[in-house]
Amino acid sequence: MICDNIGVNEKGHLTFAGYDTVELAEKYGTPLYLMDENKIREHIREYKAAFEKYFPQGSNPEFASKALSCKQIYRILKEEKMNIDVVSCGEIYTAKSVDFPLSYCFFHGNNKTDSDIEFAMDNGVGYFVADSEDELLAINQIAKEKGITQKILLRVTPGIDTHTHQKISTGNVDSKFGIAITTGQAKNTVEMILKLPNISLCGFHCHIGSQIFESEPFATASELMLTFIAEIERDLGYKCEILNLGGGFGVKYLEQHPEIDYTQKIEEISKILNIQCSFLGIDIPKIAMEPGRSIVADAGMTLYSIGSVKEITGYKNYVSIDGGMTDNPRYTLYESPYTVMLASRANTPKDFCATIAGRCCESGDILQENVMIPKPVRNEILAVLTTGAYNYSMASNYNRVPRPPIVMLGDKGDYIAVKRETFTDVCALDV
Ligand SMILES: *Cc1c(COP(=O)(O)O)cnc(C)c1O
Repeated sequence: MICDNIGVNEKGHLTFAGYDTVELAEKYGTPLYLMDENKIREHIREYKAAFEKYFPQGSNPEFASKALSCKQIYRILKEEKMNIDVVSCGEIYTAKSVDFPLSYCFFHGNNKTDSDIEFAMDNGVGYFVADSEDELLAINQIAKEKGITQKILLRVTPGIDTHTHQKISTGNVDSKFGIAITTGQAKNTVEMILKLPNISLCGFHCHIGSQIFESEPFATASELMLTFIAEIERDLGYKCEILNLGGGFGVKYLEQHPEIDYTQKIEEISKILNIQCSFLGIDIPKIAMEPGRSIVADAGMTLYSIGSVKEITGYKNYVSIDGGMTDNPRYTLYESPYTVMLASRANTPKDFCATIAGRCCESGDILQENVMIPKPVRNEILAVLTTGAYNYSMASNYNRVPRPPIVMLGDKGDYIAVKRETFTDVCALDV
């Protein structure tokens, strides 16, 4: 099994976090998002412990909200004393609604509007990760009107290419995010920031991409960032306090993906930081990182009911389910791989090559192509594994399909964290 929270019970049913998935599907209906609460906590604790062990005092991991944003995840994060980043006022609002502390929160985005900036300041968001000169001027102006000094990090692009899908690669010079180091623009921007009276520059941020398995891109990014930090210190007399290396650690979606030891990765990054900082003659800044996927992905699973099974002689076998791109658009967007299992008969030999099709009127609404499962029959339960990140958070109401609920599986039992949308909810804003 790709994760230790998955198993098969004596009935041949797939289990998740020790629960019978077929029973959960009967109890809550399908499609259904499941989340393993203990797995989320386990990942958070691993990151926090590794940061404490390997990085300078004051270093912190934060959960990247965009991977999964709902009230219950913020309650869990709050209990675990894990910080967050946000990319929108909607995420700020959600976190705030459960009294999540925002004084160590990082606010991202390549186009924060004036009202976003005001909203974040009024809600006490600790740090803005400024993304452009226009934005810096706007932050300075609005902070001045409010009579405050806003702490920021400057997002820069170190100029490296990661071996990941182009749409989730963000560290290269040609990117809508950040300001390029290699063109000299990042340094000019720092000079500009240091003259802005209502902005306090606290350090630098980079995020090189997502679903990265190797340490090497992080090592390269760290080296480039530290070289930049040393140059800024030497030429402009500015000493960087926080270096935020973003998110991006990969997650095992398929059996053939490598197992990632996040503690070991963090240890490797810390070694590079030590070597590079002593070589450059600078102090090691406080380190921040923003794991999203690697905190919640394998804590999630989605269950569907099977509808029609259509065998097109000489072509493909389409197995249709009662969800699809509305609850998981990631195959449509990036051809993301997933492991698919027939939850109702998890021990039956996998002798049927299936293309899993969603229910939307859209040929591209496919969840996975040519995967091996036992030949299913109508109303059996299909499970797509590792769906905890970027599934619920990317879900839509296309075709007026209501979004599935999130059911959390914890020590005290299973409980609803997000309710199933109703048709009334879908029409709620129609006038
Ligand atoms: C997407 C994103 C993250 C999280 O990335 P993961 O791959 O989910 O860990 C962190 N920081 C920023 C700025 C991002 O855009």
